[in-house]
Amino acid sequence: MKIKTLLMIAMVSSLVCGCTQQHEKVDLLLFNATIYTVDNDFSVADAMVLKDGIIVEVGLFDDLVRRYRPAEKRDMAGAYIYPGFYDPHCHFYGYGAGLASWADLTGTRSFDEVLDVMVRFAEESDTGWLAGRGWDENNWDIRELPDKGALDSLFSDRPVILIRVDGHAMLANSVALDRGGITVGSEVPGGEVLVKDGRMTGILIDKASDQLRSMFNRAVLGGEQGEALVARGILQAQENCFGVGITTVGDAGLNYHQVQTLKQLQEKGLLKMQVYAMLNDNPENRKHYISQGPYRSERMHIRSVKFFADGALGSRGALLLEPYTDRSESVGLLTLDPERFRQQCKELYGFGYQVNTHAIGDSANRFVLGVYADILEGPNDLRWRIEHAQVVHPDDFETFGKYNIIPAINAIHATSDMGWAIDRLGPHRVVYAYAFQQLLETNGWLCNGSDFPVEPINPLLGFYAAVARKDLNGYPPKGWQPENALSRKDALKAMTIWAAKASFEEDQKGSLEPGKQADFVVLKNDIITIDESQIPEALVLQTWISGEKVWHHSAH
Ligand SMILES: [Zn+2]
Repeated sequence: MKIKTLLMIAMVSSLVCGCTQQHEKVDLLLFNATIYTVDNDFSVADAMVLKDGIIVEVGLFDDLVRRYRPAEKRDMAGAYIYPGFYDPHCHFYGYGAGLASWADLTGTRSFDEVLDVMVRFAEESDTGWLAGRGWDENNWDIRELPDKGALDSLFSDRPVILIRVDGHAMLANSVALDRGGITVGSEVPGGEVLVKDGRMTGILIDKASDQLRSMFNRAVLGGEQGEALVARGILQAQENCFGVGITTVGDAGLNYHQVQTLKQLQEKGLLKMQVYAMLNDNPENRKHYISQGPYRSERMHIRSVKFFADGALGSRGALLLEPYTDRSESVGLLTLDPERFRQQCKELYGFGYQVNTHAIGDSANRFVLGVYADILEGPNDLRWRIEHAQVVHPDDFETFGKYNIIPAINAIHATSDMGWAIDRLGPHRVVYAYAFQQLLETNGWLCNGSDFPVEPINPLLGFYAAVARKDLNGYPPKGWQPENALSRKDALKAMTIWAAKASFEEDQKGSLEPGKQADFVVLKNDIITIDESQIPEALVLQTWISGEKVWHHSAH
């Protein structure tokens, strides 16, 4: 508790200017709260003063009430206030577009259940193409990748694509494969068409699924009707995100027209969610944004490009140094051209852009660290990131620190994957996977994102996974590889101040300090002190952006 320090500062400052002190007019005084400022000293206060959406002062009620004349005083009834939650790596646009156009397959317990959901979804959908997302065979009785056979018999005249929970594998039916011209002999760099006994199973890994995805996007999300559908989905996504306390999203991989859609919704005043947009590398983005240097408006910030170095561990697309323990003929996939990537990174360096590259496997991490290191040369403040940094070889940790490369982790992947990670990696490698505390120590900070819709949107689940390393049933009782758990303080920083820093926004966001935007979340529970098992249920009461209450909990 730093209340004493704050009191001292308050006394000193009132001595200094006491003679000329006037009662400054402000908009709002919030009091009767425990306010975690997440400033350098991790100070705790009980009142906060706001004006024009900016924090004027955070401190003690008795002091602030004497020195300010607020238009409104608001009793927070003993609630807990934290800086607005900042999800530094998620797919906000994709989540929104998906809410409007995909069947939700998350949590399905069998492939039969997936089929049931799709049959019901098809009855209400007249878009031609059908899509679902979120299946995970690791949650099924038969833990095997599904086959298109049953899908073909149910849907013999409509193309159907079902995207795996990690987004790195897809099951397509025969109509979809036909439309895409995909055959047993198709070869896609950075991807794989799975074949069994001489016929396609319908499973497409990584880049092999790109074409069907774009065909789906054109067919369902294109045109005026599609745009209206997407806009509705995005506003629903915003509502859902506000409900779990998120005030800024780092959207990991956007095309030009997607950025424009978000910007237009912001300009119309409909989208209040703040976006740190990571661009996909393509000619349109280069022309309109990258070559023009960084861009920042009130709610949109663009100065980074997202790349993919490999696939995911679940679908065995992550690039490993040694073959998969459960698939000895494969080391996974490098999903980019090394020379071209090096060239692109050099150019982005020149444009003052941040480079954020997805790397899951230890080989992919080593490769990206190597390219970054060659360009960055030594200590720097460019904050180039590795997204996920999931399996990092013990020899490679120090490279993060040496070149100030930031691990952009997703703590919740650890607890989602802990049931099968050892199958993919074996007992020797798994101990250095999901090594978040070790990664934190390389630079002294990191950021923790959810990667939604791969995972649920609620950042408290990522916080819980980081500190407890248990699933929602409290398993395993001592936590999985608990030596790599983060402290609660650090886990809170990783979703507030450090997430803002990972996006060059710590000047305006991430902590509750004078001069910063009044972005904050009000919780009923204290996530720093409550019993660990209660963290996932901590209740969000209100969400504020720039001094505006954008969401509040309503008891139904
Ligand atoms: Zn992602």
